[in-house]
Amino acid sequence: MGVVTDWTTLIRDVPDYPKPGILFKDITPLLADHAAFTQVVDELADGLAFDKVVGIEARGFILAAPVAYQSGAGFVPVRKKGKLPAATLAESYDLEYGSATIEVHADAFAPGDRVLIVDDVLATGGTAQAAVELVRRAGAQVVAASFLMELSFLAGRDRLPGVDVRVLVSV
Ligand code: 5GP
Repeated sequence: MGVVTDWTTLIRDVPDYPKPGILFKDITPLLADHAAFTQVVDELADGLAFDKVVGIEARGFILAAPVAYQSGAGFVPVRKKGKLPAATLAESYDLEYGSATIEVHADAFAPGDRVLIVDDVLATGGTAQAAVELVRRAGAQVVAASFLMELSFLAGRDRLPGVDVRVLVSV
């Protein structure tokens, strides 16, 4: 198992996905490479102490679950509206056209739980901002939000004031 010195080459640009004009960052080549995958999982949690890891549907799940497993923390899914079976808290946020809603189980956290939020890409920050609100409304504290990649031209971190934002690579 070698150390990948530059796993960023395993994130592929896909033009015009999901719609014309969007350059999508596809992380599936990175996930398919064991050394790269394990390295980024290690780095996402580096130096942080937490009780629960929140993964944001769907790619966030892929990264957050191994972070939780490896750190001895619990895993909590934040899902799109209507997917969680028990009582939920919901947060809506604006998209370019329309809005989206994400949810978390209302009883997902113990009071004061320290939470690490994990997702693959920080773009406009709307999704992460809503996830931060959900964690706080559920009675837990956000210790950090970790992302594989930040699209810095979209200034997503500006929507996360007071949050320790960690990004492994910024483009
Ligand atoms: P935001 O709410 O910050 O605008 O968008 C972030 C969410 O959209 C994340 O859940 C992320 O998975 C997804 N996303 C937005 N753009 C990209 C992209 O280029 N590549 C990937 N993999 N996900 C993206």
